[in-house]
Amino acid sequence: MTNVLFLAIDSLRADAIFGGSVVTPTIDSYARRGAAFHQCVCTTTTTTPSFSSMLTGCYPPKHGVRGLQGYRLSSALETMPEAFASAGYSTYAEVTGPLLPETGVLRGFSEARHRQAYKVPFFGWRDEVVSKMRSYVEPWFMLLHIWEVHRPYRSPPDFEKRKDKAGYQAAVHATDEWLEPVFAAAGDDAIIVITGDHGEEYPDTAFDFQMLRAARRARRAFRLSQWFPYLDNRFAGMEIGHGFALHEHLVRVPLVMSGPGIAPRGPVADQVRHVDIFPTLADICGLEPPAHADGRSLRPLIEGRPLPEEAAYMEAVGVKLEGDRIVGARTPEWKLLVSGGGKRSLLRIGGANGPNESRNLYAKHPDVAHKLESFIQSVTDTEVDADSGMTDEEEATVEKHLRDLGYL
Ligand SMILES: [Zn+2]
Repeated sequence: MTNVLFLAIDSLRADAIFGGSVVTPTIDSYARRGAAFHQCVCTTTTTTPSFSSMLTGCYPPKHGVRGLQGYRLSSALETMPEAFASAGYSTYAEVTGPLLPETGVLRGFSEARHRQAYKVPFFGWRDEVVSKMRSYVEPWFMLLHIWEVHRPYRSPPDFEKRKDKAGYQAAVHATDEWLEPVFAAAGDDAIIVITGDHGEEYPDTAFDFQMLRAARRARRAFRLSQWFPYLDNRFAGMEIGHGFALHEHLVRVPLVMSGPGIAPRGPVADQVRHVDIFPTLADICGLEPPAHADGRSLRPLIEGRPLPEEAAYMEAVGVKLEGDRIVGARTPEWKLLVSGGGKRSLLRIGGANGPNESRNLYAKHPDVAHKLESFIQSVTDTEVDADSGMTDEEEATVEKHLRDLGYL
């Protein structure tokens, strides 16, 4: 049985790896050796719900994690580590940020360690994790979640500190380099999966960053969350860089899979989804297919065979699911967005000139819109009771972490 390293780099945009503007030779080498999905879409632009989708193969209505705070993963679903454990694997998680054990997202890992995300040195966790990996009991499945690309952008001591696009790109470049010993510890015969949990919206320039800082001050000074919760949520999204919108740069993430059982396919242009990861790995590793998954195995694409097009469901929820969430559906050609207030936008994203996210074609293409609306309905129909079941103490622990991370 093959070891599996599932690496999730928080806030990693697709174009950071596949766009050609950031040098990432380490990740590129896995993209060449295996399958590089250039059009992978995440499920939500918020960390905890996004991981819940990757680890269950299900969309949020079914797994129940609808925000950063106040939800616990539905116990009715089998998680990816549970499936690997049933097949005889040892399962390890090294996570950070909001992925606290209280959220249920770490269910199924026999050893799960949550480390601090803020005020820590760049890759300060690495030596300890690498030495642990060398003593893992084989076969193993490991989830490694890293925060080096998340705001505030951090970079190793020899890089210039920047808070804008240049800072983001430097963090991605350095991360690629600093990951080398981790991949070496996984070994040449492991399956390697690399993705981002969602994309990122960075200030393009240092001036843009100053504007963001002013927005943050306004939030605090005027206690916006109390008087204008909608506005506060929007500002919070701007501050964090993701969480309350479904723009292309926020929902498109890289997905690279390589190792035994994965042919050297190189770039794959078909749209794939985070919910496909669990069914795919189960298929490649000879596990039972996950019974509840909304996704499907991508093995045909990896082997050069076609798969019929399937839409991707997505939702933007921010910190906590309120009435003003956004839900959406995406195909390679179109994206339909429905705001909490019911406003509908149909956007052409596959046109010859690239995505156009400012022109609403809803009235012009009602047939396309209605098809995507019924797809969204079919997903939201699977909604479970999202009651968290957390104790007050657990809620308080989660809240404290979110505050430290700057989400509240
Ligand atoms: Zn994240």
